[in-house]
Amino acid sequence: SAARTPLMAGNWKMNLNHVEAVHLLQKLSWTLQDKKHDFERVEVAVLPPFTDIRSVQTLVDGDRMKIKYGAQDVSTRDAGAYTGEISAAMLTKLGCTYVLTGHSERRQYHNETDEIVNAKTAKALEAGLVPIMCVGEGLEIRKADGHVEHCLGQIDAGLAGLKQDDVRKVVIAYEPVWAIGTGEVATPEDAQEVIAAIRGRIEETISPSVADSVRILYGGSVKMASASGIMAQPDVDGCLVGGASLQVDEFAGICRYLD
Ligand code: PEP
Repeated sequence: SAARTPLMAGNWKMNLNHVEAVHLLQKLSWTLQDKKHDFERVEVAVLPPFTDIRSVQTLVDGDRMKIKYGAQDVSTRDAGAYTGEISAAMLTKLGCTYVLTGHSERRQYHNETDEIVNAKTAKALEAGLVPIMCVGEGLEIRKADGHVEHCLGQIDAGLAGLKQDDVRKVVIAYEPVWAIGTGEVATPEDAQEVIAAIRGRIEETISPSVADSVRILYGGSVKMASASGIMAQPDVDGCLVGGASLQVDEFAGICRYLD
C-alpha cells in the first residue's frame, strides 16, 4: 500500500568502533544527500552496537541528518540489578527511534524465547521505541515446508498481549535464518509468500486496518542487486540489511532501489 513508507535498516551487528561508526555514517549521509528525493521515498535507519549510539546521536543531531538510528537489543527489565543490560528508557534518552527484538542471532546464541521477544517488544513500545521484531525459519523447517506455520507462530507469540494501537507501530522483519549472512538471498516470491501470510495473520488476529498499516521487511543477504526485485513484491515494505549495511555504496544502492 502506498501509505506504508519503505524502511531500509542497516544492522551493523558487532562491528565498528565509534570512530569507524562516525566515518561510515558521514559517508552514507553525504552519499544520500546527493539526491534530494532519497529521503522522500524511503526511511533510512542504522542499528549500531550500543557503544556507538552516542557518537551516532551526536553526528545525526549536529548535521541534521535524516538518517534514523536504533539499537540491536533491549532489556526486558526497567532498571536495577541487571548487570550488563540496557533499558528501553536508556535508548529513548539517546534519541533512538528503533530497536531490534528477536533477531535470530539473539534467539540462537542467547537462547531468546518467544516469551522474551514478546517482553522486549512490549518494553520497547512502552518507552516509545519502535520495535523491529524479527521472525524466520531455519533450513530444516524450510525443507520440511513448515516455514509459514513457524513464522506465524513466532508472530502470534511475539505480539501476544499488545494493544491494537501498539501493534500498528511495530515493524516486523521476516528473516529466514538460512539466508542471513550466507549470501543466499530468498527469492522475491519466497519473501512475498511469508510476508503476505504474516499480514494475513495480523488481519485475522488484530484488525484489517492494522494489517494494512504495519510495515513488514525482508532480511537475509540483501544486496544492491537484489533489493529492487524484493521491493517489487506488494507486501514487502523494506529491508533489514546486515553485511551490506557496512558498505556505503551497497547500502546507499539498496536505499535507492527505485533509481
Ligand atoms: C541481519 O542480520 O539482519 C541480516 C539480514 O544479515 P545479512 O544481510 O548479512 O544476511
